[in-house]
Amino acid sequence: MSDSSKFSLKLWGTRGSIPCPGPGTVKYGGNTTAFELKCGGRRILVDAGTGIRLLGKKIMLEEGNLLDADLFFTHTHMDHIQGLPFFAPLYNPSSDVRLHAGHLDGITYDLQGIIGTMLMKDPVFPVPSSLIEKACSFKDFECGKIFELPGGVVIKTAPLNHPNGACGYRIEFAGKVLAICTDTEHFENHLDENVLFLADGADILIYDAAYTNEEYPNFKGWGHSTWQEAVKVSREASVKQTLLFHHDPSHDDKKMDEIAILAAKELSSVRPAIEGEVIEL
Ligand SMILES: [Zn+2]
Ligand SMILES: [Zn+2]
Repeated sequence: MSDSSKFSLKLWGTRGSIPCPGPGTVKYGGNTTAFELKCGGRRILVDAGTGIRLLGKKIMLEEGNLLDADLFFTHTHMDHIQGLPFFAPLYNPSSDVRLHAGHLDGITYDLQGIIGTMLMKDPVFPVPSSLIEKACSFKDFECGKIFELPGGVVIKTAPLNHPNGACGYRIEFAGKVLAICTDTEHFENHLDENVLFLADGADILIYDAAYTNEEYPNFKGWGHSTWQEAVKVSREASVKQTLLFHHDPSHDDKKMDEIAILAAKELSSVRPAIEGEVIEL
């Protein structure tokens, strides 16, 4: 495969809700959501949970702290934005990072406002957002929009079922498909049409499997799904490989190993995502 058609995914963070460092989470990871995609020469990031700090460190050490990328947010819950103020290349005014969010109405809240008045604002955080804004442009969009980026990358979007809204992504490049469906809660009596649309025939599906079916009744309405639902979606949408994602803070490596065994028994193409792994599509 030539470099111009290379499509890779790195998982810099797999945990949901809150970072969970410690000896019990070294295998599947303690950092929250952050994805890095390379589509030929283009770099696309999804979410800025605490995992993005490590990517920033790498870019600082290996690439002169200079970044040209699009960063798409699934939504702006804390576990998906918390790493942004610690993402080093944003402090280089020569970086060019386009930040996109599709879950906000742009009137009550917009992306720039959330970062500038809620996340990077005293007395919550000492460094003002003005220090990253030279490197950033903020682009709110209506979820459902289709992006065609230069270089042949097509990104389809659809709303997910999550409190305060979330946007799912289907990224198509070089004949391959990556679907990212986190954070999302399944419906009781039918599969979510939007999730099926995003996941249809995907090579890789990232799916919110924070809970097990046994745990789920205690967390109904919290906006997350189960590994058993991931299996159903994978079957229905003929997904080639599904990565269970948004690991619950209470699920240590031992519990995740158990889930891995149960899921594989049900459908061998379904397994938990592991922090730090790189997948070539
Ligand atoms: Zn989350
Ligand atoms: Zn959320």
